[in-house]
Amino acid sequence: MEYVDVILPLALPQLLTYAVPDDLSGKVTPGMRVEVEVGRKHYRALVYALHRNAPQGFTAKPLRHVADLAPVVTEKQFELWTWMAAYYMCTMGEVMTAALPNGLRTSYKPRTETFVRLHESRQSDAQLARTLNTLARAKKQEKLLLDFLDLTSGETNAAVPKKTLMSLCGTSAAAFNACVEKHIFEVEQCEVGRLDRSATVTKNMPSLSAAQQAAFEEIKQQWHTKDVVLLYGVTASGKTEIYATLMAEALARGRQVLYLVPEIALTTQLIGRLQQLFGNAVGVYHSKYSDEERVEIYRMTGAGAASSDERPALQIIVGARSAVLLPFTRLGLVIVDEEHEASFKQADPAPRYHARDTAIMLAAQHGAKVLLGTATPAVETYYNTKSGKYGLATLTERFHPVPLPAIEVVDTLSMRKKKRMHGLFSQPLLTAIGEALERHEQVILFQNRRGFSPFIQCEDCGHIPQCRHCSVSLTYHKHRHALICHYCGYTERLPGSCAACGNTDIQAKGFGTEKVEEDLQRCFPDARLARLDMDTTRAKHAFRRIIGEFEAGQKDILVGTQMVTKGLDFGRVSLVGILNADNLLGFPDFRAHERSFQLLTQVSGRAGRKERRGRVLIQTSQPNNPVIRFVQQHDYHAWFNLQLAERHEFAFPPYVRLIGVNLKHTNEILLQQAAALFREQAGALLGSRLFGPFPPPVPRIQRKHILSFWIRTARHDNLAELKSVLLQQFGQLRARPGWSGLEFVADVDPA
Ligand code: ADP
Ligand code: ZN
Repeated sequence: MEYVDVILPLALPQLLTYAVPDDLSGKVTPGMRVEVEVGRKHYRALVYALHRNAPQGFTAKPLRHVADLAPVVTEKQFELWTWMAAYYMCTMGEVMTAALPNGLRTSYKPRTETFVRLHESRQSDAQLARTLNTLARAKKQEKLLLDFLDLTSGETNAAVPKKTLMSLCGTSAAAFNACVEKHIFEVEQCEVGRLDRSATVTKNMPSLSAAQQAAFEEIKQQWHTKDVVLLYGVTASGKTEIYATLMAEALARGRQVLYLVPEIALTTQLIGRLQQLFGNAVGVYHSKYSDEERVEIYRMTGAGAASSDERPALQIIVGARSAVLLPFTRLGLVIVDEEHEASFKQADPAPRYHARDTAIMLAAQHGAKVLLGTATPAVETYYNTKSGKYGLATLTERFHPVPLPAIEVVDTLSMRKKKRMHGLFSQPLLTAIGEALERHEQVILFQNRRGFSPFIQCEDCGHIPQCRHCSVSLTYHKHRHALICHYCGYTERLPGSCAACGNTDIQAKGFGTEKVEEDLQRCFPDARLARLDMDTTRAKHAFRRIIGEFEAGQKDILVGTQMVTKGLDFGRVSLVGILNADNLLGFPDFRAHERSFQLLTQVSGRAGRKERRGRVLIQTSQPNNPVIRFVQQHDYHAWFNLQLAERHEFAFPPYVRLIGVNLKHTNEILLQQAAALFREQAGALLGSRLFGPFPPPVPRIQRKHILSFWIRTARHDNLAELKSVLLQQFGQLRARPGWSGLEFVADVDPA
């Protein structure tokens, strides 16, 4: 008897075993989808293994149905999934859910269209001439046939979409049906893709500058001995052109390329550039695409179903995080652009994986090389180049001969004393904006908060409206006349009076992008403003529209959140203003300084990329903070050394490995008891490696209370053992009567 172990789309810790009934024997292999019963419910499951070991202690139920003729998941994918589940402490079902587009888990239907071809009795020249003769008095039918031949350029065994023919010809359905009845045409239903496959190559590969060429050679040299190389190149040094040149080489060797970007919405400029160079070989894997489109990209990344030697239709995949989970067959190169970006780490739900690190595993499986690129390497990454684990290539100058921008720090405290702060804007910033506008140059203003103001407060009693479900204050959104929770989306109308004391004097405190936009318009009534944040880019094409208008010079000032910091390449931006660096520096996280350095450097890098040297103004009340100073001096190395010393002193990565653990429950008392027990029992086994419990910065989200732990381990520690201790201890807690609602969230290598 044969058995299969299957993965279910449920958070089950183990795989389930089913028997293969005789009539399905030989029709099922690993990677195929099947239907099984769990309890009384039917599920779509995925076969992980096929074997002859009868399960012990129970009789396996039979499979009900096999849904595929060929596997949809490859052996290599399973290998990666297994690693992810073990490393990131999650189940195979959770990895599967992340990896398979929805359409592959439920109901993908290919799209079909009616095509027209000549009946086989009409295809020779003689037959065709005779046919045309017989139509001499049926003008409409004759025109149909002639238009058909036009469309196929005279090719007599080609097929054209009926839609196209009918709209060209403009004749009636009756004439068309007559042609079908006379066996002149025949129709067929053909599967058609949903993807736009009309890109054509319009550009030659760029020729590299001497500095780019040197970096390019260095990367290839390093790849002889290292699998991973970091390209550390300052902003606007032309990293993209180096990537493109390496991609062309991989394609010429018949290998695929995975190009990971932090946020696909931000890459319209990049994708356009790649399509000009590589045409239809480029596929984009995008969470805003429909399920069906995602299924098509998934399939086109893998080999054609016919044979595994077939070259996949897509040779370059550009995608965010989840693209690392596609079924590559011939991967030769992985590029991770802006490798320092925190968005490569998935926060919720599991698998809480880091796409950069997962891509490095993926590349190792395929014998592919990895290039990490950035102007602000992650501490861990740069450390790995120092220790010799990764290779390093550098670009220290910009492609266009413009120096890096001049960065000025504006001390908001002393400005305030001198009465030179006008609301959110210091006098120097206002002057600089005015000058830029006068010269018809563009300005980018960065504020790391959306909405109008992060909270409102009663002037009388000090009450601040809080979310009902989370322990955070509600953000005021003026356009929507509402208070909104940025953690759970809870929304209420702006109150007319204080809920605590009834006083009507309520003030908006602090500021977000919406307020920046409003106040700015008051200072510069004629300036054309655009705002780029999560609120203005919800619609599918909104991002592209806003960027497009700014690029075309239809807007003068772009106000935005960190969306404006990432990779944008505009030639006419001469000034970048950072309204308040304080709320970056003060973030309660060991990476706060790293994130601040990266963000400030990246957003500064948007200034003066092509023509004149750009100018950057940073408003802060901490002008002497070393992070600000190193950003100002463009001194990554000095910043890195200081940061590394701090990480060493306080035992943070890269010197240790961190695992964050959150326990959650709606009942606060129960949660405290559980955390105390976890501390006691896991602590007995883990000793000083376990730190906590402590309340996280937001200790209640969506009605659930949270207590956190940290596990700090030496990098050489046996992780598998440690993780199994954690999971076992949690299992014991949850098994207590009444405690089954307890949740355990593990975050390995938190970002
Ligand atoms: P980075 O990604 O390093 O910030 P980009 O790749 O965006 O920099 O390059 C900055 C600018 O220089 C872009 O406008 C790009 O088109 C231009 N550029 C870079 N390399 C070349 C090249 N070899 N030939 C022509 N233009 C280039
Ligand atoms: Zn909330």
